[in-house]
Formats: sequence, structure tokens, C-alpha cells
Amino acid sequence: MPRRTVTAAPPPLPARLLRDSARWFTEGARRKREARHAQRCVSCGSQLRSRRTPYCSRLCQWRFQGGYFWDAARTYAIHRDRFTCRSCGHRFRVRALEVDHIVEIARGGPPLDPANLQTLCRDCHREKTRAFLRGRSRTRSSPELTPTPPPATADDGDEWFPA
Ligand SMILES: [Zn+2]
Ligand SMILES: [Zn+2]
Repeated sequence: MPRRTVTAAPPPLPARLLRDSARWFTEGARRKREARHAQRCVSCGSQLRSRRTPYCSRLCQWRFQGGYFWDAARTYAIHRDRFTCRSCGHRFRVRALEVDHIVEIARGGPPLDPANLQTLCRDCHREKTRAFLRGRSRTRSSPELTPTPPPATADDGDEWFPA
């Protein structure tokens, strides 16, 4: 049985995104430094017992770090998909877009893997989530993650979202 190999490397990040990820990194480091100094948890703000760590608990550490990683993965997916909903094919402003897990985390989809992320508009995302909760998401019922790379040159409204 052939083993599924790792897919090709993701396309290079846009310069602005690289700059932003550097900013997230330094901003995160600054917030942690300040939290240690003030002895307040960087995530929930509760009193810390020592200055060794900026987190009051593992949960707060996960929340804080996950927030930064998720921000980065989310922005990356939206840029890669050119601000276009991959379901209805319309272009939206960033604020109207949401990043969806193609294979839901609850079904074992990797939370931060760009191959498992797709940009959807609010309506399409709500519809997909509703279908999933009803257990009727037949269009996406494959239990195995099948990443679909975006086309090299995607015109607006290009229909490449697999049915
Ligand atoms: Zn905390
Ligand atoms: Zn849509």
C-alpha cells in the first residue's frame, strides 16, 4: 500500500505577511516580558507567583501561543486564497471572511496546517458548520485530508473549489 507522502511546500509568503509575522513575534515577546515584570498572566491577567513564566497555567500558555499561531495561519490562508470565498467564489473584505478547517478539528483535521485551511465568507462558513453539525456534510465526507492547492493564477470568481 503506497504511503501518503508530504505534499509540496506552501507557496512563499507575501512580503507584507512576513513583516506581520515578525511583528507578531516581537509583540508577543514584548507582552510576555511585560507580564513577567508585572507578575500578571499574559493571557488572563491573574496574579503570578513567580517571574519565571508569563503564564499562570498550561491552559493560558496554550491560549496565548495558539492565538499568535492561529493569527498567522489565518492571515496566510486569506492571502493565499486572494480574499475570495472558496465556496461561492466571491471576493470580500477581510472582516467578512472566516478561515475554515476543511477537515474539522473534531474529525482529526490539523488545526494549523495551511493545507487544511480554506477561506470562506461568513454565510458559506455558517452553512458548512450547520451541515457538519447535522452530520450531513456529504460533499466533504472524505475522512482523509486531501489538500487542494490553489491554482497558480486564480482569476476572481474562478471555480476550482471541488464539489
Ligand atoms: Zn492565566
Ligand atoms: Zn461564500
